[in-house]
Amino acid sequence: MARGYLVAGNWKMNGSSASNAALLEGLVRGVAECPAIDVLVCPPAVYLEAAHRHLAASPIALGAQNLSDQSKPGAFTGEIDAAMLNDVGCSYVLVGHSERRTLYGEDDDCVARKFVVAQAAGLIPVLCIGETLDEREASTTESVLQRQLEAVIEAAGVEAFRNAVIAYEPVWAIGTGRTASTEQAQAAHAFIRGVVASKDAKVASSVRVLYGGSVKADNAASLFSCEDVDGGLIGGASLKAPDFLAICAAAQILAASRDA
Ligand code: PEP
Repeated sequence: MARGYLVAGNWKMNGSSASNAALLEGLVRGVAECPAIDVLVCPPAVYLEAAHRHLAASPIALGAQNLSDQSKPGAFTGEIDAAMLNDVGCSYVLVGHSERRTLYGEDDDCVARKFVVAQAAGLIPVLCIGETLDEREASTTESVLQRQLEAVIEAAGVEAFRNAVIAYEPVWAIGTGRTASTEQAQAAHAFIRGVVASKDAKVASSVRVLYGGSVKADNAASLFSCEDVDGGLIGGASLKAPDFLAICAAAQILAASRDA
């Protein structure tokens, strides 16, 4: 199976040149203790180029939080083309984060277009999917996850998931301090992997499925130890180097014990 852990930080709309430099310096130093995992940071777009310079000699990968759904550059004021993200050093991009879906009206088709455009430019999309609290309480979690995932599989093909990451982020757990239980997380992750497996079992066993939603140092190890959880997408706790590094350390310990 050997999927390996990925711990990704989504900085959202936070930071400044000075605070980013300090955060990245701390991460670059600390991540040396975590050689068995992959680490990714996603700063705001205006800071990507500077972040790329800070990360030059580091294994930490750089990602963007969003991209245009247009396949070519042109008259799209305020938008950022996938090739531009590539040009400033990104290798990943978040696609369909719940804040994009709910606050900026990105529907499944828009998310699928962004996924396709990202891959066409050589970026690895991190496809974010997840149900709201109302949807969970109405017992529609699985149908929501299936709909969000199949919109992208239909547009990109299941093979595209050989070079993509899925992040399961229950909307009710994002930024709320409320985390899915290990049972809830494992069940959702196994379901997601099952949807992919129904199209291609090999792709399903290789795709990384991250958990996101109030991951902290004290819950990371139990969440990451679930069979189908391959790391985390971290919001609030990615903004302070010690907090993020403690989450990376939890993944590192699990990765090292899996390898032993
Ligand atoms: C996120 O923004 O993707 C996220 C999971 O945020 P938080 O960790 O703050 O819940």
